[in-house]
Amino acid sequence: MSCIFCRIVAGEIPAEVVDRTPDTLAFLDVTPLADGHTMVVPTAHVARIEDMTPAAADALFRTVQRLAGPVRKAVNAAGNTIGINDGDGSGQTVPHVHVHIVPRWPNDGGGSVHTIFRGGDRRPIKDVGAAIRTALGK
Ligand code: AMP
Ligand code: ZN
Repeated sequence: MSCIFCRIVAGEIPAEVVDRTPDTLAFLDVTPLADGHTMVVPTAHVARIEDMTPAAADALFRTVQRLAGPVRKAVNAAGNTIGINDGDGSGQTVPHVHVHIVPRWPNDGGGSVHTIFRGGDRRPIKDVGAAIRTALGK
């Protein structure tokens, strides 16, 4: 088994586990972006969100929702940034789905999700909306 998060799920390598369900595991990021930086992963290996089963996706988000408050309160944070690097071009470095819960404080020096992106020309919103509806089969 080469996937590092599968190995954590299997208990083959150590992690600071904070929560476990049959379908999810939550542990602290080994190089935290902030105190309390928590990773929530599905126990079944899957590389991308789009490849998850509906049941696994439900379970993953339920755990994220359940942990968001306790993680934030444990480190006396004001909020969380909750995000997923999903696939090529996103910055995903571990190809096993994981949700980052990163506690936030006012003036902590970080930005919002919007600060990841740069300005530039964009396709007309109506065209992009039509393309997505077509991809959805609508
Ligand atoms: P991403 O860039 O979204 O793929 O995030 C991968 C994250 O996994 C990074 O924030 C790493 O610090 C974290 N990470 C990598 N190896 C481990 C590990 N053994 N235990 C905990 N977190 C890890
Ligand atoms: Zn894996």
